[in-house]
Amino acid sequence: MTWIKTSMLVGRDESALVHFDNTLIHHDCLNMITTLKQKADAAGFDLGVASGYRSFDRQLLIWNSKFKGERPVFERDGSLVDMNRLDELEKITHIMLFSALPGASRHHWGCDFDLYAKNLTSLNIPLQLSPEEYLNGPQSPFNLWLNECLNDFDLFRPYEIYRGGVAEEPWHISHRPVAKQFEAAMSLKAIKEALFESDIQGKGTIIENLSDLYARFVINIGK
Ligand SMILES: [Zn+2]
Repeated sequence: MTWIKTSMLVGRDESALVHFDNTLIHHDCLNMITTLKQKADAAGFDLGVASGYRSFDRQLLIWNSKFKGERPVFERDGSLVDMNRLDELEKITHIMLFSALPGASRHHWGCDFDLYAKNLTSLNIPLQLSPEEYLNGPQSPFNLWLNECLNDFDLFRPYEIYRGGVAEEPWHISHRPVAKQFEAAMSLKAIKEALFESDIQGKGTIIENLSDLYARFVINIGK
């Protein structure tokens, strides 16, 4: 395991990453994901990684476009949020239902993956990453297969159920041996410093409420 630097925690360091399926992942996860892909093939699923590593800057772009209403923001039930009627703190908590605060995303680490079966998507059935799609929709056979693999591959779902913070995300899988080290190294201070230096929308309100947001959305996860 690479020694974890603060820059790695907040998505500003790509030195521990390697390429896999059009994304970047932590090198200590490469054997696991390669073997998982082989096992998926044997079960008839073409395993895809919709998101592995995501940088701070990429997360910032997503955040700012959602905050400005340029990109849709959804409620847990899939309905569209009217961002114009919300105050800053409400905008922030609505975005954080499905999108992490830059600096606080588990995708900054390279050991968390949004997984899907490519052969269960098509032009007519694009991947949506919605809970319904995985629980009862096109990705549900893959989701059931994945359930059976979690223990063998030392994987877990940090957002398996809704805990009042992030919505349930059955597609989001975390590789425990690496993720637990990042979780242990993570700090409110590192996130605060990264945000302070950035041009994030809603900065004042975020910094003011950061310890509450951290408790509700960042560390409020499954094991
Ligand atoms: Zn994810």
